[in-house]
Amino acid sequence: MTDLLILGGTTEARQFADLVVRMEVTAIVSLAGVTAVPADMALPTRTGGFGGPEGLIAWMRENTVKSVVDATHPFAERMPWNVAQACEELGIPRLRLVRPGFRKDPDWRQAVNLEDAIAPLPTENRVLLTTGRSDLEVLSLRPDLKAFVRTIEPIGDLPENAEAFLIQPPLDLTEELAFLRTQRVQTVIAKDSGGPTRTKLEAAKLVGAEVILIKRPEQPPGPTVETVDQAVAWLRQVVGIGK
Ligand code: NAP
Repeated sequence: MTDLLILGGTTEARQFADLVVRMEVTAIVSLAGVTAVPADMALPTRTGGFGGPEGLIAWMRENTVKSVVDATHPFAERMPWNVAQACEELGIPRLRLVRPGFRKDPDWRQAVNLEDAIAPLPTENRVLLTTGRSDLEVLSLRPDLKAFVRTIEPIGDLPENAEAFLIQPPLDLTEELAFLRTQRVQTVIAKDSGGPTRTKLEAAKLVGAEVILIKRPEQPPGPTVETVDQAVAWLRQVVGIGK
C-alpha cells in the first residue's frame, strides 16, 4: 500500500519529501526522468512516464495509492491533467503544490508562449531566452533576431540565429549583469516559474533590457497550495495521515 504518491521534478517536491520522510507515511516520488542526474530524494523514487492517464490509473491501482500530491513544475502541461483525471476516476484526494509566480513589475510584458513573445520584437533584437529547450524552433520565424539560449543540460540542434550557453543556476547579480552586458542583450524572455531567483529579471532592469514573461499553462481546478508546510497540513487534516 502507498499512502502517498508525490509527482516530482521540482525543488518543492524534494523539500516536501524531506518533510514527509519524518511523518511515518508510506510514500513514493515519481520522476519523469528528464534530468540526467536527479537531485537526491529522501523518499523512494520511481522514474519514467506512466503511459498517459490510463497508465497512471493502472499504476495507482496496482500500488494502492491513497493520496496524491502533484508537485510537478508550474509549466508541466500534461501531468497535472493526467493526475486530476486519475484521482477523480479512483476517488483519491489530490493536492496541487505549486510555487507562486514572480511578483510582477508593471514594465514587464506577458506572452502566452515563445512565438507570441518574439513576434513584436524590433528587427535584429538581441534576446536572452531562459525558457528551456522546448519550442526553440519558433526562432526560425524571426531569423533577424539573435537569440542566446541558456540551459542547464546540453541541447541538440538549434536554429541558426541561436547560440547555446550551458549555465548552472543560480547566477548572482554580478554574473547576470556580466552576461547581459557581454552579449549586449536587449530583451530577456523568461517563464513565470516563480521562486526566489528573480536575479536575471532584476539584472535586465538594471541594463535597460525589456522583460517578457511567458504565462503559466492552465491548471486543472482543485485544491492548490503554494508551500510545502501547507501540503503537510493537507496530509494531516484532509487525508488524515502523518505524525
Ligand atoms: P508534462 O508536459 O506535464 O509531462 C509530459 C509527460 O512526462 C507526462 O505526460 C508524463 O508521461 C511524464 N511525466 C511528467 N512528470 C512526470 C512525473 N513526475 N513522473 C512520471 N512521469 C512524468 O511535463 P514536462 O514539462 O514535460 O516536464 C517533465 C518533468 O520535468 C515534470 O516532472 C516537471 O515537473 C519537470 N520540470 C518541468 C519544467 C518545465 O519547464 N516544463 C521545468 C523543470 C522541471 P506519461 O503521460 O507517459 O505518464
